[in-house]
This record gives sequence, structure tokens and C-alpha cells, in this order.
Amino acid sequence: MAITIEKAKRIKELPTYLFTEIDRKKKEALARGVDLIDLGVGDPDIPTPPKIVEKLMEGASKPVNHRYPSSAGLLQYREAVAIWYQKRFGVKLDPEREVVSLIGSKEGIANMAIAFVDPGDIVLVASPCYPVYHIGTSFCGGKNYFLPLVKQNHFLPDLDAVPAGVARQAKMLWINYPNNPTAAVAEKDFFARVVEFAHRYNIIVCHDAAYTEMGFDGYRPASFLELEGAQEVGIEFHSLSKTFNMTGWRVGMAVGNKDLVSGLAQVKSNVDSGIFQAVQEAAIEALHLGDEIVEPSRRVYQERRDILVSGLRAAGLECEKPRATFYVWVSAPKGLTSAQFTAKLLDEVGVVTTPGNGFGEVGEGYVRFTICVAKERLREVTERIRQVRF
Ligand SMILES: *Cc1c(COP(=O)(O)O)cnc(C)c1O
Repeated sequence: MAITIEKAKRIKELPTYLFTEIDRKKKEALARGVDLIDLGVGDPDIPTPPKIVEKLMEGASKPVNHRYPSSAGLLQYREAVAIWYQKRFGVKLDPEREVVSLIGSKEGIANMAIAFVDPGDIVLVASPCYPVYHIGTSFCGGKNYFLPLVKQNHFLPDLDAVPAGVARQAKMLWINYPNNPTAAVAEKDFFARVVEFAHRYNIIVCHDAAYTEMGFDGYRPASFLELEGAQEVGIEFHSLSKTFNMTGWRVGMAVGNKDLVSGLAQVKSNVDSGIFQAVQEAAIEALHLGDEIVEPSRRVYQERRDILVSGLRAAGLECEKPRATFYVWVSAPKGLTSAQFTAKLLDEVGVVTTPGNGFGEVGEGYVRFTICVAKERLREVTERIRQVRF
């Protein structure tokens, strides 16, 4: 007879998975032979550029790469990150002390809480958001305090609305611009307010910068670290995933304040053994090529964005035209909740989207569309949606 197996409280207390219902419906529709178009996942459909793949294949055949890597990452990889940050943002980083490699930024985001959050600590989380920020806090027994991202404030958190008592107790703040899921962007004056807030209340700033390279119409989003004083308070999480169409490769980086980087590196050295060095060598090549390979995918996404946004508007739906990211944050038509809108699109026209409340309560009333399918499919999406009566 099996022993009694009891999952840890941190697992049992995880929020119920909001996408279970969509997954079930998706399976049903596929079984019925529906030609589903999946705009649910934020995962580039464009393959990794061949030059990067070639570097991996070269690296994979070198025996020196068959052994354990260092968990902090090859010094050459960290140097390539520092050079890229300097070139792209004008931010100076010491590759040995201010850069750590990550097995995708998700890993670092989750481990950040283990490094810095004690039970009872308050973590400020701008929401709706990438769920790992608050799940990391919960896993460590910390308390999340959500800062709502609403349209009136251009989806930026209102730091003045945080009660001083909460701010004084807060250990850490999570922000993410360009933003997933709202597609909002932040200008430097906002980052300057964050730096000031962090100094005033002694709060660690964690900026998730996964989408800085996915800017359109010539717009180049800033790094948080460009701001004066930012390196005194913050760490930035970045990744090759979205920038170079490398989500499957699992390679990213955390950069910034050396004490924050070393705390994170210390956790990592105890729980992982780094990234396959051949992957790091390929990542060095990607960072080195930079815009040469990013620009073509930017153009692809920009064209898709235009097709989707104009099509949705023609169908009577309300959304802003994103200046960055591969998401479109669409208001649910009057009288429909996020879940009802998502269900209607799936049931009636076979279009899969993500209900906004899946990213946090404040996301209620919105649905997130991605543009990670070919433009012909996006045209098909807008034609189908035009048939729906809201
Ligand atoms: C995709 C995504 C990540 C995770 O990227 P990886 O580097 O692949 O782990 C982190 N943050 C946000 C906001 C994302 O959308």
C-alpha cells in the first residue's frame, strides 16, 4: 500500500490554475477537428537564426563543453552580456561581479525570492503580471502587495498610492517594461520615480526587461539601469528568449547591483550547475550579432501587430496599438467578463486567447492576444472575429 503523500503547503496553496478550463476546451475543439488558431502562448514561432544554431553545433562537439559549467556562467558569456549592455543601453557592468547567467530569466526571477525574501517580508508586485514574481514570494513565505496597473495610469503602478506603512516594510518591488501582459511601456521619468521610491524606503528593485528589444516604429525601450542611482537599488532580468527567438534554449542573465547579483548567484551555486557551455557560446554569438538578427524579427512582429490591431478595431473591439512586446491587450466587449470573452472566441471561431484575470485580478475585463503566428493566420483571426456578435 502506498504511503500517505502530502504535498508541501507552498504547493497546496498555489492559486488554482485559471487556464485549466481553456485547456479542456482547446482539447475538445481539436478533437472535433476545429482549425484552432492559438494566440494564447507568448512563444516566438520564428526559428532561431541559423548562425546561432551553427555555433551551438560547433560547441556541442567540443569535449571541454561536456563537463560541468560554472553556475555563474562562462566569463566570456558574462563579458558578452556586459558589452551588449554597454552598446545597447550605455550601461557599464563589471562582468565578474555585476552579471550572472540564468537558465532563462524565469529561473532567476524565482530564485531572487529565495535569495532575498524571508517569511513575512512584503514584496510589492505590479499586477497584472508574469506570475513568477508573486509565486516566488509565496514559496518563501513572503506577502505579496499588488500594485494595480490600470489604463488611467498608462499601466504604470502609482507609487504614491502605496501606504507609507507598507512601503516602509517592503523588501522588494517587481516591475516589467515593456510589459507582459498589457504591452505598456515606461519612460525614463517613471524609472526615475522608482529609483527615488526605492532609496526613500530602502526597497530592492527587480526589473524584468525581457521585451526591451521588441520595440516598434523605431522605438527603443530603455533599461532600468540607465537611470542614475539605479545600480544602487536594482537588478535587471533579461533573456535571449524573446530577443533572439530562443525560448527553448534556456539562457538569460541578471545584471546590476553587485550585492543583489551575488545573492542570486549564491542561491544558484547551491541549486543548479549552470548552462551547457555550447549554449552559452551560441548566446555569445547572438549578443555579438545583436540588431543584425533582431531587426528582421522586429519587422515581422510589427507587420503582424498592425494586421491584428486594425482587424480587431474593425471588428469593433477596443485596444491600444502596442509600441513594444508581442502582446495586444484587448478590452472585453461590454457585458462580458474576460473568461466569457475568451470562451466565446474559442467556442464560436476557434481562436485561443488568454483571459486577462489569469495575470491578476486587475486584468479582469481584458484578454491578451499574442502575435506569434504567421500574418495570414492573423488575417484569418480578424476575419473570424468579425463574424462574432458581441
Ligand atoms: C517570457 C517571459 C519571461 C521568461 O523568459 P525566459 O527567459 O524564457 O525564462 C520573463 N518575463 C516575462 C515578462 C516574460 O514574458
